[in-house]
Amino acid sequence: MSQCRRLLPLGVFSKVGGMSARVLVLNQNYEPLNVCHVHRAFVLVFCGKAEVVESNGHTLHTSTRSYQCPSVIRLLYLIKRAHPMAKLTRKEIFMRDNFTCQYCGTKTHDLTLDHVVPRHRGGQHRWENLVSACKACNHRKGGRLPDEARMHLNVRPAQPRVSRYYWVHQHLQSTHDPAWLKFIPDAERKRVSA
Ligand SMILES: [Zn+2]
Repeated sequence: MSQCRRLLPLGVFSKVGGMSARVLVLNQNYEPLNVCHVHRAFVLVFCGKAEVVESNGHTLHTSTRSYQCPSVIRLLYLIKRAHPMAKLTRKEIFMRDNFTCQYCGTKTHDLTLDHVVPRHRGGQHRWENLVSACKACNHRKGGRLPDEARMHLNVRPAQPRVSRYYWVHQHLQSTHDPAWLKFIPDAERKRVSA
């Protein structure tokens, strides 16, 4: 690997910034596998571990020659990976609940996070105890259990199942190269709903 690194001095990559500095890595079977820095992508290609599938139109110049910058590379061997899990964040909970208050059914982006069993009553910070609530419902419930507040959950909260491309959909919410999209199932739909 170190020999491969010497082929391309790191300083060359300081000229490549922003979107073009990131490369989508496909598994041997063309499934999206990872996103890496363009330097890492060049190392994989020069070591014979990957091939360039798409270029981004930029060119890197060293003292001796020029290289097309990859946008998508594909590994020449198959990597096995575990099914991803959704990260427990406010945004993920709102997305799981389809931006809908789980008590009154109001659809809004002005949501709060509610611990169904309040923390001071032993409620845990986990998928099964967290729901989206509009401000009015959260205020009404206060530090009580739903039954005590005479409120009912529309759906029992649970950990969401995520697409095996979950991690790459996260990348699509920030800057990415349009050339990636055709390799990512559901990419357009995810971008619209994000
Ligand atoms: Zn509500």
